[in-house]
Amino acid sequence: MRSDGQSIAQIRDTIRDHRRFLLTSHARPDGDSIGSQLAMAFALDALGKQVRIVNADPAPDHYQGFPGMHRIQIAPQAEPDGDTVIVMECSDLSRTGVAGLEDAFIINIDHHAGNRMYGAVNWFDESAAACGEMVFEVIRALGVPMSEQIATHIYLAILTDTGSFHHSNITPRTFDICRQCVEAGVNPAAMARRVFDSNSFGKLKLIGAVLDSMELVDDGRLAILHMDDDMLRACGCTHNDTEGLINLPLTAREIQAVAFLKGTSDDGVRVSLRSKYDVDVRRVAAQYGGGGHKNAAGFTVDGPVGAVKPQLVASLIAAINEGLLTRP
Ligand code: 5GP
Ligand code: MN
Repeated sequence: MRSDGQSIAQIRDTIRDHRRFLLTSHARPDGDSIGSQLAMAFALDALGKQVRIVNADPAPDHYQGFPGMHRIQIAPQAEPDGDTVIVMECSDLSRTGVAGLEDAFIINIDHHAGNRMYGAVNWFDESAAACGEMVFEVIRALGVPMSEQIATHIYLAILTDTGSFHHSNITPRTFDICRQCVEAGVNPAAMARRVFDSNSFGKLKLIGAVLDSMELVDDGRLAILHMDDDMLRACGCTHNDTEGLINLPLTAREIQAVAFLKGTSDDGVRVSLRSKYDVDVRRVAAQYGGGGHKNAAGFTVDGPVGAVKPQLVASLIAAINEGLLTRP
């Protein structure tokens, strides 16, 4: 059993003992950060708690129709004002991008390797396929019934953070939780369509442009994608339209890992990494001060990407060689 019962019990008791909560998660939110926060918010509502949610950045458009999205305030700074702060999905408090939380009473719930244990109460479980799996367990420990709204957000967290059930950290527990979500009213087909099949025509153009920029190295085992603001503008897109693009090269049988370089060469580049099976891109991201998971990780480079690219390519090829040794 991977759950740390001690931590769940501590979180359950801390939540029961407090009345006002401020929820947050990482900047540039994804489905797991949105789903974890809103599932927690609806569960706290059910317990009669006061809840507010503050995030540094708005969520991509295709999440906007999900229940409770209007509750998320976007701000670079929060005033906890005595509230208990629940931080989900953040290995480090700075990942929130929200200032002002440093002195608050924090509950830290996360599944990213290398979590800094920055909370007064910490529950870290690297084996969880999504932070939403952990939030599900907290909600169950609190005795809150699985409403359709809560189930929708837990399922959203798992669907997205497993890369729509492609990543290697999926366990029987993942499906057990999904089963309970479906029993509570979630429609998996509708969820998949809403999350993955809601592209704009501009995004289809962007997919074409980004794939056109693809470089193949190491006999096609590594793909490198490039994107800059001019490409976004030409397609009528924003940074929020880039979600999911990185997964496309992995649909080619030979490609084992992908690096997606986003930004301009002079003011910093965001690098996203994805991989198949045991190819560990988190360890590569960690070399550049980033993090994530074995099959999905990222980091930011301050200077021009050209300065790090040769070393990055070498590290990714090494990770591919190592990962292929244990490929099923
Ligand atoms: P994405 O490529 O979608 O931005 O991120 C993939 C995964 O890597 C997510 O789990 C995300 O939290 C993590 N990640 C991305 N960038 C960073 C980073 O700069 N630092 C850390 N610690 N994790 C990151
Ligand atoms: Mn996650």
